Amino acid sequence: MTVADLETLDMDKPAFDPKAFRLTEQEEELTALARRVAKSRFAPRAEAIDRDAVFPTQNYRDMHETGLLGICVPKEDGGHGAPFRTYMMTAAEIGRYCGATALTWNMHVCSCLWTGALTDDLEIEAGERELHRQRRAVHYKRILEDGAIYSQPFSEGGAAAAGAAPFSTSARKVDGGWIINGKKIFASLSGHADYYGILCGEMKEGERPSRRDTMYIAVPATAEGVEVVGPWDPLGMRGTVSRTLLFKDVFVPEDEALMPRGVYYQAASRWPHMFMTLSPTYMGIAQAAFDFTVKYLRGEWPGLPPVKRRMFPTKQMGVAQMHLMLEQTKALWFQAITEAGPDPSREQMLRAWAAHYTVMENANEICQLAIRTCGGQSMLKSLPLERLFRDSRCGALMLPWTAEICLDRIGRESLYLPGETDE
Ligand SMILES: Cc1cc2nc3c(=O)[nH]c(=O)nc-3n(C[C@H](O)[C@H](O)[C@H](O)COP(=O)(O)OP(=O)(O)OC[C@H]3O[C@@H](n4cnc5c(N)ncnc54)[C@H](O)[C@@H]3O)c2cc1C
Repeated sequence: MTVADLETLDMDKPAFDPKAFRLTEQEEELTALARRVAKSRFAPRAEAIDRDAVFPTQNYRDMHETGLLGICVPKEDGGHGAPFRTYMMTAAEIGRYCGATALTWNMHVCSCLWTGALTDDLEIEAGERELHRQRRAVHYKRILEDGAIYSQPFSEGGAAAAGAAPFSTSARKVDGGWIINGKKIFASLSGHADYYGILCGEMKEGERPSRRDTMYIAVPATAEGVEVVGPWDPLGMRGTVSRTLLFKDVFVPEDEALMPRGVYYQAASRWPHMFMTLSPTYMGIAQAAFDFTVKYLRGEWPGLPPVKRRMFPTKQMGVAQMHLMLEQTKALWFQAITEAGPDPSREQMLRAWAAHYTVMENANEICQLAIRTCGGQSMLKSLPLERLFRDSRCGALMLPWTAEICLDRIGRESLYLPGETDE
């Protein structure tokens, strides 16, 4: 099927109706494109990707072909130049059809969103900004022309990924570049990304490591000293292939810096909604579980006998519960992603954590309800619900905003004003 043929496809309804939610023209177009590509190409492959725990390589070729790989590459560099909310809405549509593709696509897209629209909102000295523009243009060209894939490994198994300590993966400045040493766990796309966009701490002679010295650097997967190790056989999100990455004295040319010194720290402090980008995958999963349940109870799921189960009041109650939860989740999430931007207020931060928590926890709750409501046959591996259920369990575990950390921050920030203590 060609890209032009996609236009003629029978479509599912949008997760967020463009008129009701007053989406921009670009949002309407990109969400429709994502829905068509994901429904026609990703959904049929999702079962095998999950079963075999393999990376969705062909899906990435499709995203290159359809321009989705460059969704957040700025327009002046040849991409769609999608802002934060547009990306989030588009990713939710992909999450409906293949969670592992949506989640890994997030890691890839962040390499463009963070270096593009987000960095443009931050304070950077004019010379530094010019150099940054030149450097990021090289990354964008690789993505648009060669279909290069970027990943985003920052977890290390310590406190750094939660933002509570400096990264232990180190970058030492040398003539013409950086020497990288360290280890990243749960590195989605390992063995499949062309560049690993790592977060690491710059080592400075005689100084203690500081979070302010975090560097964001693209390490070519083929660089000497890069190794992918360990098995990958998890409960859910199996197609993300999140194995362990080792860096041993890896030399990286200085143009591979994805952000100038100090800018990642500024971004994390001033543009914290950047950490919400893991949520659209799970927003899509929640929508998919609801859609499946409606079709299943109406006896309309393709390939199954047309047995209707919708007439039982208990089924109707189950669907009503799911609908309430889905609408509440969508409303809160849409508000939080709409107001995302630099220097959010305390109330906006509380809402962002609340929205993130709600998506991650409710996606799993909605999947559980879906299985209970549809009944035993719905959890067979031949149907997508069982996979949605397992994939949805992963959302609340993802740093830096795990469900626990969101709760912790909401509780603390609600009870203490900035600077307040009990002493
Ligand atoms: C499918 C999947 C794909 C992933 N892909 C990536 C990826 O591409 N890149 C990447 O960097 N990571 C990725 N991760 C990793 C993820 O973001 C977490 O880092 C990982 O799940 C942490 O696991 P852990 O058991 O080591 O957590 P631990 O660090 O042991 O934390 C356990 C729990 O303790 C709580 N906790 C931790 N620190 C704090 C704190 N300071 N304050 C309060 N509570 C705290 C949190 O709730 C956390 O869930 C992925 C994870 C999954 C499941």
